[in-house]
Amino acid sequence: MAKGIKVLSNKSMSLNDQLVECKRPEIVYIPLVNHSKMDCECLVKVGDKVLKGTVIGRRNDNIDLPIHASVSGKVIGIEEKLYCNGEGVKCVAIENDFREKSVDLRGAKKNIASYSKDDFITILKECAVTGMGGGDFPTYIKYKSELNTIIVNAAECEPYITADYMMVKLHADEILEAVDAIMEINGIDKGIIAIKESNIEMRDEFIHYLGTYPKITITMVRNVYPIGWEKLLIKEILGIEYEKLPSDKGIVVNNVSTIYAIYKALKYRRPISKRIVTVTGERLQEPKNILIRLGTSMKNVIEEFGGYIGSSKIRFIAGGPMMGTCLDTDDLVVTKNLNCVLVIDDKDEADLPCIRCGRCIAVCPANICPVLIKDKVNDFESLKYLHPEKCIECGLCSYICPSKIRIRESVREAKKEIRRH
Ligand code: SF4
Ligand code: SF4
Repeated sequence: MAKGIKVLSNKSMSLNDQLVECKRPEIVYIPLVNHSKMDCECLVKVGDKVLKGTVIGRRNDNIDLPIHASVSGKVIGIEEKLYCNGEGVKCVAIENDFREKSVDLRGAKKNIASYSKDDFITILKECAVTGMGGGDFPTYIKYKSELNTIIVNAAECEPYITADYMMVKLHADEILEAVDAIMEINGIDKGIIAIKESNIEMRDEFIHYLGTYPKITITMVRNVYPIGWEKLLIKEILGIEYEKLPSDKGIVVNNVSTIYAIYKALKYRRPISKRIVTVTGERLQEPKNILIRLGTSMKNVIEEFGGYIGSSKIRFIAGGPMMGTCLDTDDLVVTKNLNCVLVIDDKDEADLPCIRCGRCIAVCPANICPVLIKDKVNDFESLKYLHPEKCIECGLCSYICPSKIRIRESVREAKKEIRRH
């Protein structure tokens, strides 16, 4: 059986309310970023007028992907802003004219299953559909191969985060329609929705509409972390292992929110301009799921929904507590791959010495040795044999460590060291 351990869930905190939408921002900041490419080309200049959906930047290395405006208005600058990985990145600042004028629709379809595979890939590219579970990986690339199975990743295994659950609650029927269309277009004969066995409510949302789609089934997976990592998920559900990519075995895995973005792209030929973000944690006045315009400053969102409570030091995390990045400020821009912002007490626990217990090695789903990597973090010759590049940054090594050592951060550093050579 695939690895994984039980972790605290803390999801109920953000599930008390319905989805709410934040105010339309006066200025949006759209990062010129996609996945690992942090400096995409800027295609606009100060003073340019843009519509919602105008291409304002482009990734054009070995991957071709546009970057769109999320509001209509005027470009007022190119500014550095904080991205969810903790780095400052160049952003196109657009002053919102609140007219919501969009680029013209091009050939929206009633029957979204009637596209050819080539058209499907072109639409995913044009609408810049990327992984919304955190990866931001261009989705069209996953569909270039011959495929036989699609797994819809609705496991949402990271603690605190409920954005995908909220998405399913609101759009289960459209998500199933999209999966059915993807299967038809790509000649895929097996469609599986993967849900954690503890999330009966999500299963029931799908079951309500599933009768119309006989080729799609639901599989309940163990309530362990990080079961949502695609390598683990595929092994858990299909018993299949792969070396490089799931597509080598004819499998594609998409996060459930990414599937909804595909639905919007196929139905309306439009990129998404908003996303659901779980804004949660014990130091927030009102933890909840919020629909936020891309490019909005998280600082404004938190202020709008009551701000912080308590006066002791807080820890602000972009993403969940396991995989997220601690930031010094809340002035972070909302992007397609930001599924959660977590605000908790900063307990400032000091590291104790390593007791060589080996727990970090035992839990590592990537089968590497975090403690050894930590010891050799700047020693490239040793790191070559320890393969820190295989780390998926799941955070389990830090979570399990009895000495509270932040091992994941060291493994991250080691990954950078490998990339530098
Ligand atoms: S080394 Fe990486 S993959 Fe392994 S447990 Fe730590 S964070 Fe997860
Ligand atoms: S879990 Fe912590 S204490 Fe145990 S070997 Fe790993 S780093 Fe050392």
